[in-house]
Amino acid sequence: MINIPFSPPFIDQTVVDEVLHTLQSGWITTGPKVAALEQEIVRLTSSNAAVCVNSWTSGTILMLKWFGVKAGDEVIVPAYTYCATALSVLHCGAVPVMVDINSDFSISPEAVRKAITPKTKAIIAVDIAGWPCDYDQLNAIINEPEIAGLFVAESFKQSLLSRILLISDAAHSLGARINGFAAAKKSDITIYSFHAVKNVTTAEGGCICLNLPEKFDTAAEYKYLRMYTLNGQTKDALSKSQGAGWRYDILFQGLKINMPDICASIGLAQLKKYESDLLPMRKSIALKYCDGFKDMDWFVPPPLMDDKRETSYHLFPLRIKNITEDQRDLIIEDITHTGVTVNVHFIPMPMLTYFKSLGYHITDYPVAYEQYACEISLPIYPQLTDDKISFIIASVITAVEKQVGVRKLNKVSGKYEPVGVSF
Ligand SMILES: *Cc1c(COP(=O)(O)O)cnc(C)c1O
Repeated sequence: MINIPFSPPFIDQTVVDEVLHTLQSGWITTGPKVAALEQEIVRLTSSNAAVCVNSWTSGTILMLKWFGVKAGDEVIVPAYTYCATALSVLHCGAVPVMVDINSDFSISPEAVRKAITPKTKAIIAVDIAGWPCDYDQLNAIINEPEIAGLFVAESFKQSLLSRILLISDAAHSLGARINGFAAAKKSDITIYSFHAVKNVTTAEGGCICLNLPEKFDTAAEYKYLRMYTLNGQTKDALSKSQGAGWRYDILFQGLKINMPDICASIGLAQLKKYESDLLPMRKSIALKYCDGFKDMDWFVPPPLMDDKRETSYHLFPLRIKNITEDQRDLIIEDITHTGVTVNVHFIPMPMLTYFKSLGYHITDYPVAYEQYACEISLPIYPQLTDDKISFIIASVITAVEKQVGVRKLNKVSGKYEPVGVSF
């Protein structure tokens, strides 16, 4: 039987060679490969600086702490995301204030506006599947005099910014664009994940991109954050290992969340061919899926491109019109039986046990539930051949039609319609 995994990592000879080079270089933790990866990310995203860390989650905790987010504060997050978005807020002692999304999966700016209080310190907007949020509108809201006037600055960075911090959860959206520029340019802070299933991976890892207003000294912030990832230590292990570099100092209570060079080398090799090969291959698969389903009246295409934005094609979130959550589950069961692994992105956080225990209710997030109930994420990665894509399309159509009824081509409308409609 055919076996199509959901999201295997892209490991070709250039990745193996880069990792081997690191292994044999005599230096395996944070060093030249991390520096090279950071440079590549700065180049790709045109960001002012990039700091690599050992996960998206640790990077986000770091940036919330950097901004002074603490117990009693609120951070606005969408209900529709991976749990890490809210957990990073909880880890800082603050309250994740969940809001609903729009039907394109992205956080609703109107819901954000309503959720802002004098306790709001930050917003974490999530680019689900790689589709950038409406950052123009989010920026407009946080800069409105009335809303900026609500902001209570309680740390040096907060006084300097004197408004709500806009963080982008860009775990999915490396390579996404807005008005021809990297989407990262639209947020104060953009955090990528290099977890094994993401578009670019370092096995585990993440990267913080800084695009702070000019009143921040980005070079100084980079140095400070680098130190923060290394226990607040004045020297990294590489400089300590050289010559008379043994003496160091600890300046504050840092974290230990640096990325090793072994991991960075995996991502470095992938990034070198990301824009030229890997991203276009993902895009072409997304377009093939759209073509394969375009005549199906049950097909809701995912947001891929509009006059401003383009996704990073991280997921292909298929949605099926007018089905229940149970029907969606049965469709997944049938697809899985054909040897194709699919997924659901995401189970809204208020449906998960821990968040329920904190008092969140899915009934407060009707759009999130609606998107979740009819969503199936299809495999999308450079190694997928045309044969496999055709197989997946056929498998999905068969499974869906078993639930919603067989469709036939209506020669007049040119669309597939349920049998029983007069042709
Ligand atoms: C993967 C993911 C994360 C967490 O990334 P880690 O690097 O595993 O910490 C956060 N947010 C979203 C939306 C994700 O998909």
